[in-house]
Amino acid sequence: MDAGPWMDDVLLLTPGPTPLHPRAAAALTWPMRGHMDPDVFAYNDGIVADLRELYGAAPDAFTCLLAGSGSLGMEAGFANLLEPDDAVVIGTNGVFGERMANMAERLGARVHRVAAPAGEALDPDRMRAEARRVRPKLVAFVHGETSTGVLNPVEELSAIAHEVEALLSVDAVTTVGMLPFDMAGWGIDYAYTGSQKCLSAPPGLAPVAVSRRAMAAVAARRTPVATWYADLLGMQAYWALDGGRQYHHTVPIHLHWATGEAIRAALEEGVAARTERARRTGAAALDALATVGFAPFVPAPVRLPTVLTVRLPDGLDDAAVRSALREVARVSLTGGLGATAGKVWRLGLMGEAARPEPYRALMVALAQVLPAHGIPDAVGLPAAFDAAWAATAPVGAGA
Ligand SMILES: *Cc1c(COP(=O)(O)O)cnc(C)c1O
Repeated sequence: MDAGPWMDDVLLLTPGPTPLHPRAAAALTWPMRGHMDPDVFAYNDGIVADLRELYGAAPDAFTCLLAGSGSLGMEAGFANLLEPDDAVVIGTNGVFGERMANMAERLGARVHRVAAPAGEALDPDRMRAEARRVRPKLVAFVHGETSTGVLNPVEELSAIAHEVEALLSVDAVTTVGMLPFDMAGWGIDYAYTGSQKCLSAPPGLAPVAVSRRAMAAVAARRTPVATWYADLLGMQAYWALDGGRQYHHTVPIHLHWATGEAIRAALEEGVAARTERARRTGAAALDALATVGFAPFVPAPVRLPTVLTVRLPDGLDDAAVRSALREVARVSLTGGLGATAGKVWRLGLMGEAARPEPYRALMVALAQVLPAHGIPDAVGLPAAFDAAWAATAPVGAGA
């Protein structure tokens, strides 16, 4: 079979999916097994333990992979933890917080939004006031809002849920695996991500972690979970280490392997090293881009290290430049989403994207493309990136 153009490399600097980790790519070629095969159960047991470590979850937390993208992780949380007419307080400061509210409304919950403007973090005081007034069953928010590049104050916001004795669901899609995440310490009951974001595995799985308290709440429901497919009790029957191993649905074995390998690779590297390469690469990219008129969209204290959102230089034709980058230089970049559409680029610094090599390649591509779009100084971007990278070197580091 001829290799089509899709076989050539395109540099993915999008905020998901991210370039595949080599170990994840290799696992996609492992031989087929059935979903009830002992090898698969043994491999899944390793994933269960590794996910506990990745999330910083308690030893009695339930962890597994749901067969869908990150949005299934989001929806499964609401479907399992909310029943019709339950109250939920949701912090919304972008597209993904709003997606949470939309899902909870469809499930018949009473949704109380606490909104913040695009580019700002959620305000703990306003969240606290609403939680005290509403006394919700569940508090939910996004840790790192991908549509704007804002990092919400997870510890302060989590404390609010405990003050009102609510369950707590946190979207960890752009954070867990790259930034410190302490599910047990912060008292989070439900957290999820998507395999294609910080882990650099293919899309298609939602790794989730559920506290013992949340599993007890699911077991004590008055009504059945609205979705059969992502019912956590059904998941537990398949995934549980003791007494489980029951057929629920046919799981995507190769995605289990690829995601399992990617989680292992993340744990072996360590979250501190991963945070550091996101931080350094992002800082160098921002310094270089600032020399030709890009500016940070989010103020430094609440800037998300894994999604760098930059305002475009005045008059830059967003669509034309991104399409030239893709066609001429084979670099894939993502623009704004929701309130940021047309105003910004959102540069992914998750997983394998958070390295200097791909960002230097972006600078070379911009040097090639931007001069024809009114930015002649862009020819200096690779050198500016090299200088900025050297300047961000950790103290005492060798060459
Ligand atoms: C990408 C993303 C999701 C949704 O993930 P999909 O895999 O696209 O379904 C949810 N929340 C956040 C913060 C995300 O970045």
